[in-house]
Amino acid sequence: MKKSESEQITHFRTANPSSVRDVNRSIVLSLIRLHEPLSRAALSEKTGIFRSNISSIVDDLIETRLVREERATPNGRGRVPYLLSLRDDTYRVAAVSIRPITTSVACSGLTARPQKVLQFKTPAHPKDAVTQIASAVRQLKAEIGMGSKKDFGRIGVSVPGLVNAHTGEVLWIPALPDYAEFPLRQELEQQTGVKIEIDNDCNLGALADMRLRQVDMGGVKDFVFLEIGDIGVGAGLILNGELYRGHDARFVAEFGHMIVDPDGPKCRCGRRGCWELYVCDRATWRRFRPSASFSEESVERVIAASLNGEKSAIKALRQTARYLAIGISNIVLALNPQVIVVAGRIMESWDQLRPFVETEFAPSQIPIHILPARMAPEPLFLQGALSLALHDVFAQPALGW
Ligand SMILES: [Zn+2]
Repeated sequence: MKKSESEQITHFRTANPSSVRDVNRSIVLSLIRLHEPLSRAALSEKTGIFRSNISSIVDDLIETRLVREERATPNGRGRVPYLLSLRDDTYRVAAVSIRPITTSVACSGLTARPQKVLQFKTPAHPKDAVTQIASAVRQLKAEIGMGSKKDFGRIGVSVPGLVNAHTGEVLWIPALPDYAEFPLRQELEQQTGVKIEIDNDCNLGALADMRLRQVDMGGVKDFVFLEIGDIGVGAGLILNGELYRGHDARFVAEFGHMIVDPDGPKCRCGRRGCWELYVCDRATWRRFRPSASFSEESVERVIAASLNGEKSAIKALRQTARYLAIGISNIVLALNPQVIVVAGRIMESWDQLRPFVETEFAPSQIPIHILPARMAPEPLFLQGALSLALHDVFAQPALGW
């Protein structure tokens, strides 16, 4: 039924003096995160907000113990300024990265720098995982000396498969089949008493890479993150500085399942000739040693052999580069992102792959900017889960409807 106009109007949230202040507060906090340490004067200059208003916001951030202000080290010239930085010892969050073999649990303050990381073997059943995660969270609290009255503000969780980010239900994890349809967020909230945010690992990899890149590149706002893994390709999509999750937050950017050969081998998704079958580490290894079994070191061995000038290794990498170029050019034609960020072991040979990939692009004249991710996938996913847990602290309040 169509809503009446007056009903629709109640769905607007318009700016009033208090919400404008909330927006300015989140802008100031985000700028401190990006440029710390910096002075009140620099904040005023960057935002165009009057000094007196900046001071009132900063005083509030200091009072709520999110920010500290300290005298800079004197350098013998001029007045010594007072500089603002984020506090890492007051508001704390935790993060969980579930991987097929190992699960990591970490905690951080506002800077998202991990302060402590615990690891355990990932249980085959999700109920056991919840019990072990809750126990690791308690252990973290004890080890960093959080009092019994304090708790983590949020816990961010990275899942290596499809998850509904709105409901927190796991949909499908290829490596952990028993996790399908498990209400992970609900169970973890019950066990830990802390609000849980859950997302797919590559979405969080994209988020973490964007945060790490913002610091020294002035911000990359539209990019695609790809993880070339052992048997698959994961991806995350950042549009206008925000993670894009698809209309119902169930899946997005499943570029690994773009079909590049409809008559190709069967994929685990049920279709044939998906891109990931041609660029994953196992595919690179098979080209090099068709009958030898694949292990974690396989890609390193191909790279080492190619550096030694072994022709079959160079050929194998070149073939992977060709398929990388095919898939990435499809993505670029569809989305025209600023950058494609690629993570995974194969990127250790990026200097060798790069000319091959660029040769494949050359005829199309498509300008493509590919960068290796700032970290290996495992620490990146954990970092992304910390960023997810901190998201609401820095997020601007929503205005409009
Ligand atoms: Zn597929």
